[in-house]
Amino acid sequence: AYPNVRFVEGTADTAGRDGANLVVSVQGENIAARRLILATGVVDELPSIPGLQERWGRAVFHCPYCHGYELGQGRIGVLATGEHSFHQAMMLPDWGPTILFANEAFEPDAAQAAMLEARGVEIERERVVAVDGAKASVVLDGGRAVSLEGLFVASRTRMASDLPAALGCEFEDGPLGPYIRTNEAKETSVEGIYACGDAARGAGSVSHAVGDGVTAAVAAHKSLIFGVH
Ligand SMILES: Cc1cc2nc3c(=O)[nH]c(=O)nc-3n(C[C@H](O)[C@H](O)[C@H](O)COP(=O)(O)OP(=O)(O)OC[C@H]3O[C@@H](n4cnc5c(N)ncnc54)[C@H](O)[C@@H]3O)c2cc1C
Repeated sequence: AYPNVRFVEGTADTAGRDGANLVVSVQGENIAARRLILATGVVDELPSIPGLQERWGRAVFHCPYCHGYELGQGRIGVLATGEHSFHQAMMLPDWGPTILFANEAFEPDAAQAAMLEARGVEIERERVVAVDGAKASVVLDGGRAVSLEGLFVASRTRMASDLPAALGCEFEDGPLGPYIRTNEAKETSVEGIYACGDAARGAGSVSHAVGDGVTAAVAAHKSLIFGVH
């Protein structure tokens, strides 16, 4: 249906400028274009607790809005990784009874403890040593296990690709990790290069990524007609 669109399978290995063009190399093939939109995403880094990684996206999640409701008001855990876990623990009781596993990574101050108590959040301070079971059963240092419908963890993120940095894009320091700085048109700090999706916002979702992609594409097209603003 779109004969002038070509899909290229493979990893973009390098990218750089060649005169007026930006050139992306995909496994040996150099592809030149006047504008480039980066949509390379991020990689989530989880705490190294046995059983966590293999349950990622199935019973271990990071976004209450994506997965809270799906747990059908079952018991929910929050595995603390730092300050951000306080926000997760405050949000989640709307979707099920919630336990915050402090895991020596977060200790609420008096005000936070009062807020958590008002939301009915239980705090467990024994260290988490593993996650197992069909869903997410949190195994504590002393051997006790707490069965959950789902476990939330605020992962750290890093760029999935080195290309944005190699192209000279500037970054913002987000709450979960770095992301590419863009203006309201989703143009990066490098003229002619746009970015969208998780790589270019603090926290994302499919609908944000799609919307940002449209913004970037419209701006890239307009810039070819009216010049880069
Ligand atoms: C566990 C989990 C559950 C989620 N659940 C939901 C949900 O229920 N609803 C929701 O809306 N969102 C959800 N999200 C968030 C959603 O997945 C992301 O916001 C969305 O996928 C971002 O889209 P993206 O295109 O920016 O990045 P991605 O989907 O990560 O796509 C980026 C792509 O670029 C590729 N890539 C990277 N570098 C290169 C390169 N050099 N060359 C070629 N290709 C490259 C990657 O391999 C990847 O395929 C969830 C996220 C996670 C981690």
